[in-house]
Amino acid sequence: MDRIRALPGAALDLVLPRECGGCRRAGTRWCTRCATALASLALGDPPGASGPSWVVPHRPPPGLPPVHAWGLYADPLRVAVSAWKDAGRRDLERVLAPLLAASLAGALAGCGWPDGVVLVVPVPSSPRSVRARGDTPMVDVCAAALDACMASVEPGATPGRGVVAHTLRLAPALRHARRVADQSGLDTAQRRRNLDGALAVKAFWENVIRDRRCVLVDDVVTTGATLAEAARALRRAGAADVVGATMAAAHRTRA
Ligand SMILES: [Zn+2]
Repeated sequence: MDRIRALPGAALDLVLPRECGGCRRAGTRWCTRCATALASLALGDPPGASGPSWVVPHRPPPGLPPVHAWGLYADPLRVAVSAWKDAGRRDLERVLAPLLAASLAGALAGCGWPDGVVLVVPVPSSPRSVRARGDTPMVDVCAAALDACMASVEPGATPGRGVVAHTLRLAPALRHARRVADQSGLDTAQRRRNLDGALAVKAFWENVIRDRRCVLVDDVVTTGATLAEAARALRRAGAADVVGATMAAAHRTRA
């Protein structure tokens, strides 16, 4: 996929049909109508709030860290995430990475951490998905979001949204410790049982995670079971504090 992504537009057209990743309209990879519809999904800051707020799933699982989401998980974002992750439309990373960057900035603004290194930890894909896809889109979009966060920092600018004060480092530190069933179709309690003890910190990363502040990153927060399990693994490895940042939330409820 890296090779495909590196191709110029004309060559890319020979590889992938040029159609919108949100509505499949022909002739463009992301149409203006979907761009407008996407913008309307932004959660933004609630009226009267002094800063960004956290989204709260219905009946949040124990241990769920505070989670910041850019927007609501609805079309065309839902279609775009699926096309990006499961249908090989990695070019949609340019649509999705800015959303993740904004969510990351919101999480950092809301967590009140002092200056210093913050590890950005993508939730790992299952070994089955990695085998099927041949790459790790979540790690790639995290890297792009980090670049966007850093690029938005102008030299001498007033620190804004919490990003400037922190040095962000990509840390793909988590691994699957055992096989899990596909989460889709499972209810909240089933998802929790399915994921209990499923993730662990890779041995190489244990010394890096200890005493560090971590932002867990995933595409969508639904029941929160995955982020709760990932946070448990990071805390067990000695992480000083954990918050979450996602592109989208399935629920609008906010703290
Ligand atoms: Zn479209």
